[in-house]
Amino acid sequence: MLKTVLHRGAPLALALVLTACGGNEGGQADAPAPAAAATEAAAPERVVVYSSRAEQLIAPIFEAFTAATGIPVEYITDDPQPLIARLQAEGENTPASVLLTVDAGNLWFAAEQGVLASAGSDTLTAAIPEYLRDPEGRWFGLSLRARTIVYDNRKLSADDLVGYEDLADPRWKGKLCLRTSKKVYNQSLVAMMIARLGEARTEEIVRGWVDNLALDPTSNDTRLIEAIADGRCEVGIVNTYYLGRLQRDNTELPVGLYFPTAEVGGVHVNVSGAGIVANAANADGARTLLEWLAGPEGQALFAARNLEFPVDPTTANDPVVEAWGSYQPSEQPLVDAGRLQADAVRLMDRAGYR
Ligand code: FE
Repeated sequence: MLKTVLHRGAPLALALVLTACGGNEGGQADAPAPAAAATEAAAPERVVVYSSRAEQLIAPIFEAFTAATGIPVEYITDDPQPLIARLQAEGENTPASVLLTVDAGNLWFAAEQGVLASAGSDTLTAAIPEYLRDPEGRWFGLSLRARTIVYDNRKLSADDLVGYEDLADPRWKGKLCLRTSKKVYNQSLVAMMIARLGEARTEEIVRGWVDNLALDPTSNDTRLIEAIADGRCEVGIVNTYYLGRLQRDNTELPVGLYFPTAEVGGVHVNVSGAGIVANAANADGARTLLEWLAGPEGQALFAARNLEFPVDPTTANDPVVEAWGSYQPSEQPLVDAGRLQADAVRLMDRAGYR
């Protein structure tokens, strides 16, 4: 809860000043004060966002939204569970209008807890592919996070790799690294495998993974990639943006990226996404924000900030992301990641995946 300080985004008057000053960040000093005062009365109502996405990823995007629409955005950042609990506790008195978070498992849980309402937006329904949104319109994926295979490219090539299931094969004994099963990313991955392959087959695979582990599960994806680079394991499963961050700093990183093909079910994708709060203080403003994020301007900013993939395939990728080439997402409905989350947790526990 320590991070729950309400940040003031760019209020309308400041946005106008910044435009007038050509984006000079220290523009308040020479601000034309009368112009700011004159626009105060007409200022649209603010939108308050509860975000589990970090400030550096969202602040520039909200500034662009305010510049485009005049709607001020304020936000707090925290982990998903405290934000959802806070929305529940605040009920009708919440100042929030939007919940922004990562992983369909979290979005699904928020909807189940009753803190999200249907957006009632044909624009969003048309812009976001069906498998990346709640069937009842309570949340929408706004960027894609591919959870795929990384490998030591000094020892292996893409030809050695098949897909997630194949990593249970005994030929990977002592060569596989996995992140802890406590992370929702892996819970969603296994939940989607249950939906696609059934519980018995998925358990067989997860047991095979555990048998093949080179190390205890890592605390995060970055540690996993570093373990491959250090030669402590040869292959693992991560979200691609973690590799992108390391590649930006080290173009010589000896770690390759592999996307399972459509023949083996394609690439597991998850989302960063958002929904309108059930007791939204400003539901119209919230809808405008989500529609803007799903549109060309929002899409160009939202995914690139974290090296994710836009949900709109016509939006250009960041160059680091572009270099990985294209892939086939599995296109399984992401609602399954939430629906089968508890089953996935129990399965991983039974299989000894810690
Ligand atoms: Fe992450």
